[in-house]
Amino acid sequence: MTTEQQAPDSSAAFAPTTSRMMIGGESVDAADGQTFEVVNPATGKVIATAPLGGREDVDRAVAAARKAFDDRKGWANWAAGKRGRTLAKFADLIKKNSDELAWLESRNGGKPIGGARGEIIGASLVFDYYGGAANKVYGQTIPVSKPGLDFTLREPIGVVGLIVPWNFPLLMAAWKVAPALAAGNTAILKPASYTPLTAIRLAELALEAGLPAGVLNVVTGPGGTAGASIAAHPGIGKVAFTGETTTGQEIMRLAAGNVKKISLELGGKSPNIVFADADLEKFARESPYSVFDNAGQDCCARSRILVERSVHEKVVELFAAATRNVKVGDPADEATEVGTLVSFKQRDRVTDYIEIGQAEGATIVVGGAAPDDPALADGAYLMPTVFDNVTNDMRIASEEIFGPVVSVIPFDTEEEALRLANATPYGLSGSIWTRDLAKGLRAAKALQAGVISVNSNSSVHTEAPFGGYKMSGIGRELGMSALDLYTETKNVFIDIS
Ligand code: NAD
Repeated sequence: MTTEQQAPDSSAAFAPTTSRMMIGGESVDAADGQTFEVVNPATGKVIATAPLGGREDVDRAVAAARKAFDDRKGWANWAAGKRGRTLAKFADLIKKNSDELAWLESRNGGKPIGGARGEIIGASLVFDYYGGAANKVYGQTIPVSKPGLDFTLREPIGVVGLIVPWNFPLLMAAWKVAPALAAGNTAILKPASYTPLTAIRLAELALEAGLPAGVLNVVTGPGGTAGASIAAHPGIGKVAFTGETTTGQEIMRLAAGNVKKISLELGGKSPNIVFADADLEKFARESPYSVFDNAGQDCCARSRILVERSVHEKVVELFAAATRNVKVGDPADEATEVGTLVSFKQRDRVTDYIEIGQAEGATIVVGGAAPDDPALADGAYLMPTVFDNVTNDMRIASEEIFGPVVSVIPFDTEEEALRLANATPYGLSGSIWTRDLAKGLRAAKALQAGVISVNSNSSVHTEAPFGGYKMSGIGRELGMSALDLYTETKNVFIDIS
């Protein structure tokens, strides 16, 4: 690999060459000085190095976060409104620096720059929301049977560990950091190894916004060492994780040592159910983006289209035509809708699934390979791929591919559609398309998943709870529910007899 020279676009101005972790308000290298390379998947070239943090670095970060938490005049003891105003300032700074953050995210993850910008603004809105929420974390007064006053206090847990994936690096960090800090905790954030750059920049902006040193620490490094040390650390009271279901299971095991509180946002294999009476044109116009956005690397990707048999052919035709119009290209191009996968390794994994699907007897209607354009030959690109003649038991329909691949599966009755939709260990999201509102509501109630939309593919609303049933996770992020994940409830009884 060669180091990327001056890039021909304005993103060059924002590209760091070396980056450091943030511990206790200081930019630091890993304790043992090791680093790892950060690659742009659109070019295959190294754009930065980052510290290869490990156990010793996590120990340092826990000590710094604990010191900040225990400070009698510190973050946890600030008036909630003051914490909230500081988070609102943090939100403004993220917005003000959104160009830089979007370029970092785009070059680091292969994301289209337009989409990356939207994600950064989304992250800023999350901080803004929890800035407003900080002084609305209420307890209750409870009419108990003894003569006295009984009430609850909502208190921060202490030091929390936040482990995030590479698919929406800053946004996933915001979903965790903002409610954790709003509730008065101090935090250690660990970004994925592929995408550490925006987390590092976030910690710098936190200091600029006035968060005291040690309130937000960032440790970069591999999951198996830095991540596992966070999950197992006895000085951390809670771990919040987004990533693969198998990693979530490992984190549960590691967290058992000190009975950490845990919240997990894991994988998905979400259905997009199309009834014959639906607005098929609207479905076909909007739904390619429900599975191909972010090159399909989205836990909510509607990767199974369950379609009523009478409109099967028509839906495949409309969806295939819409898919051919999705603009795959250079992430730096404002017109690009789908950039690269996060890495060449991830593309290999998805390509394997495309071969598996063909071997299982499914047929490719669109895509199935890298783009022909020679200008894209050096990047980890893959064309949006539609499989037809799929059955729900095929591996392409049952395993999370995490790439731009969708399977079309026909059904005959409403009951069969719901049975197929629920026949997965996952339960994150799903969509239902019908003009019959009663049918839509029946299906919304019957789907075993945490985030459902009807005549839409929208899953994420900052103000509403987000999370999974079954093996898609534990707990609900976003909305006021997220504050439950970062607080302990203390019951106090006062005898007034
Ligand atoms: P991953 O599980 O490989 O990694 C996620 C994070 O965990 C990274 O920071 C990684 O370094 C760390 N990690 C890895 N092994 C660890 C260990 N043993 N101990 C502690 N930390 C460890 O996931 P990924 O490949 O980065 O992300 C893709 C996955 O994330 C997909 O399965 C996707 O569905 C899921 N995801 C879920 C949601 C959701 O909200 N449900 C959102 C986004 C992504």
